[in-house]
Amino acid sequence: MSAPNIETIVSLAKRRGFVFPSSEIYGGLGSAWDYGPLGVELSNNVKQAWWRWMVHERDDMEGIDSSIILNPLVWKYSGHEATFNDPLVDCRKCKSRFRADKLQEEYEHTHPTEGPVIYGTGVVSFAADNKCPNCGASDWTESRYFNLMFETRIGATAAEKDEVGDVGESLLGGRAYLRPETAQGIFINFLNVQTTMRRKVPFGIAQIGKSFRNEVTPGNFIFRTREFEQMEMEYFVRPGEDERVHQEWIDYCYNWFTSLGISPDNLQLYEQPKEELAHYAKRTVDIHYRFFPEREDEARQWDELMGIANRTDFDLKAHSKKPEDAEGKRLNPDSTEDLSYFDEATKERFYPYVIEPAAGVNRTVLAVLMDAYSEKVNDKNEKRVVLKLHPRLAPIKAAILPLAKNKPEIVGMAKAIKRSLQPVMRAVYDDTGGIGKLYARQDEIGTPFCVTVDHQSLEDEAVTVRDRDTWEQERVKVSDLREHLERRLQPPPAEVSQP
Ligand code: ATP
Repeated sequence: MSAPNIETIVSLAKRRGFVFPSSEIYGGLGSAWDYGPLGVELSNNVKQAWWRWMVHERDDMEGIDSSIILNPLVWKYSGHEATFNDPLVDCRKCKSRFRADKLQEEYEHTHPTEGPVIYGTGVVSFAADNKCPNCGASDWTESRYFNLMFETRIGATAAEKDEVGDVGESLLGGRAYLRPETAQGIFINFLNVQTTMRRKVPFGIAQIGKSFRNEVTPGNFIFRTREFEQMEMEYFVRPGEDERVHQEWIDYCYNWFTSLGISPDNLQLYEQPKEELAHYAKRTVDIHYRFFPEREDEARQWDELMGIANRTDFDLKAHSKKPEDAEGKRLNPDSTEDLSYFDEATKERFYPYVIEPAAGVNRTVLAVLMDAYSEKVNDKNEKRVVLKLHPRLAPIKAAILPLAKNKPEIVGMAKAIKRSLQPVMRAVYDDTGGIGKLYARQDEIGTPFCVTVDHQSLEDEAVTVRDRDTWEQERVKVSDLREHLERRLQPPPAEVSQP
């Protein structure tokens, strides 16, 4: 089973210290969330699993960590200043604001066979009788575009200009943006990485980092927030090989999610229709997760977890000084570099095509939490929540529990076992309740193993290892414990062929 809805996870996440509403003591900040002690471990484990799979386990990959604030010209030539827009509409009655395209999608689901539609005015098709989700009225402003990039200013404002010396004069007090994707930091470093690491195409550059989008309607917990983290990789290939390599990456990425324990029943590939494609994309396939299982209409249960785009040579060309228009005018008069690639073997120069798998850390965290959620009834007929997280992702790998917390020898032995495990895994010591309560708590936060130290342990130097999923218990010698747990935490990697 998996979670019946996102609300179940919101409440578990708050109760058990995974995720808290941000700035809660000041009334919150519309859909911003803070990761608590267990959430930060889970999210770090997701990022580490991705990095290992994407970078360390391959021979054709490098990683980088680029700045969040880039020269604003990056966003001019990437096309984001002009086109990174969402259409929005306002309800005249209650003044709520919505994404016109999202409301229209809902409308088309609920009015599939009805007669001619009267469209409102504005930049996108938007049925005038769409009902406001907040107040039910159908009184809309015209739809208009809203740029999603967060603006900021570099350095001091104009009044303090003279006192600031460390920012380029041309940008001083000027408008800049928080990056809305990590990808552009990779493109502008293409040559730096390729030449310093002596890479030949095909190869990839991976990056994990924060991105910012001034979303019109954030919501659904950590699914859509204005500040979030992305795991992106740009894979540079020879034009002509792009379509084959793109397909290989789609399969490879899908398999990564199943290797994290996500059920294929809750994953689906979605081919973006032409009219949905971003300005740079030749083809994009999304991996969707069943984030909304409670919705009656199956088609509406799914939403994007990862996008895998064929970005063509759009970005490298757009940031290059060489390309010219029909009249011989440079398309990018500001760039000082040409980001083309010279193939020594064939003596050809070309702009590589780019295949981009882009996933959200936060959405992956949400998907693994939803998928791991299960309920079980114990022998006293009580309902227990068991979070069947993949051992690699579990925030805590082993909880060491003393059966009697008033027995110094037992407590001492349990603490010593915790210390012996901590160099190789996240282990905790817990004596804050009876053993039944402690097991229930560890099940609910997804700890694969509980290790119980009892009176017998003092004599036979052995402990009880309890398995989260089966609740089976096994007696293990303390001297074998570390190796025993390490072996069970590291199931052999699945054989997945690489593109
Ligand atoms: P959506 O259509 O849901 O707005 P997108 O297609 O704009 O997403 P991409 O630009 O492809 O998203 O970004 C890659 C990934 O980054 C997405 O698959 C998603 O996991 C994550 N992501 C994008 N926007 C957000 C957001 N506002 N909050 C959390 N994660 C996000």
